Amino acid sequence: MSAISIRSVRKEFKGHQALKAIDLEVRDQEFCVLLGPSGCGKTTLMRIIAGLETQTAGDVLINGKRMNGLPPRKRNIAMVFQNYAVFPHMTIAENIGFGLRMQKVGEEKVRTQVLRAAALMHIEHLLERFAGQISGGQRQRVAVARALAVEPDVLLMDEPLSNLDALLRLEMRSELKGLLRDIRTTTLYVTHDQTEAMSLADRIAVMHGGEIVQYDAPSTVYVRPATTFVGGFIGNPPMNFLSSVASHAALGVRAPDGATVLGIRPEDLDLVEQGGLEVSAKVVEMLGASQQVNARVNDELLRISTSALPAIAAQQRVRVRARPGAARWYDAAGRLAA
Ligand code: ATP
Repeated sequence: MSAISIRSVRKEFKGHQALKAIDLEVRDQEFCVLLGPSGCGKTTLMRIIAGLETQTAGDVLINGKRMNGLPPRKRNIAMVFQNYAVFPHMTIAENIGFGLRMQKVGEEKVRTQVLRAAALMHIEHLLERFAGQISGGQRQRVAVARALAVEPDVLLMDEPLSNLDALLRLEMRSELKGLLRDIRTTTLYVTHDQTEAMSLADRIAVMHGGEIVQYDAPSTVYVRPATTFVGGFIGNPPMNFLSSVASHAALGVRAPDGATVLGIRPEDLDLVEQGGLEVSAKVVEMLGASQQVNARVNDELLRISTSALPAIAAQQRVRVRARPGAARWYDAAGRLAA
C-alpha cells in the first residue's frame, strides 16, 4: 500500500487549469521530490495533500484512507515551509513542542517527544535558547524537529532550503539527506532546484504545465528524460537537441522510425581527431574539472562538456561524435521515442 495516493486530482482556479488529472503514488518511507519550474503546480498539489486547498476533482489517500474534506490537523501530516516560522519569543523546546500542545497532548508526552525530535536533529544542546540566538542552519533543524515531534505519517516540505544562503544550503542539503534517511518518514518535498532534487530524491516527479511528465529515480530521469522538456530542465548544462539529419549522420547516429530530434548530453559528446561532426567553438568556459564549449550547428546550439585539458580556444574547430548508446530520440511532440 502506498503512503500517499493521488488519483486523478484536478485543480481549477477561475477557469485556469493549475493541475490536470494528476496521479502519483508515494511508497511508505519513500523520499519523493516534486520538481518543476515556477507556476507548474507543485505548491498547489502539496497544499491539496495537506488539506490547505480543495481539489476540483479526484482523491487524496494517506495510508489508504481517503482524506477528501478533512482539515489539515486530521490528516496526521506535518509541514515545513520555506518561511519555516520559528517563533522568536519561544525557546527552542517550546517551538518543537508547539504542534503537540496545539493537539492538547499531555505535558509528560510533550517533554518526551521534544527530546526525541531534538535528538534526531542533534539539537539537544539548544533547547533552552531562544530562536534569535541560533544560526539559520540550526533554525532549519528546529523547524524539521517541530514537524517530526508530532510523529506524522507524512512529512511535507515546500522549498525548505530556499531561504538559506548558497553555502549553507549545500551544507543543509547533505545534512538533511542523512537525517531524513535515518528517520525514514515518508516525505514529499517541493523544489524548483534540479540539483537539490537529484541529490535528495528516491524518486523525482517532474511537473510541467500542471502535469507530471516523468516519475522515476533520479538517474533514470537524467539518463532517459521522458520529454525534451525534462532533458532541458534537468542537467547543467542541459541536454542538446538536434533536428538536422546531416548532424545526426556526422555524429554517427541515425533516427529510428517516428523520431526526429536527437537528445544528447553535453558530456556524451567525445572529441575525435578525424571524422565526426566538425564545429567551431564560439564560447569556451573553463570550469576547473572540465571545460564547456558552446558551438553552433545549422542554427542549433551544441554544448560540449569535455576534460579540462588540452585547453580549447575560442574559434577553434573541433570534431565530436556521440558516445555509443548515449543518443536519445524524441518525436515531433517532444516525447521519448527510443
Ligand atoms: P512556484 O515554484 O513559483 O511556487 P508552483 O509550481 O508551486 O510555482 P503553484 O503555486 O502551484 O506553482 O501555481 C500553479 C498555477 O496556479 C500558477 O499558474 C498560479 O498562478 C496558479 N494559482 C496558484 N494559486 C492560485 C490562486 N489562489 N488563485 C488563482 N491562481 C492560482
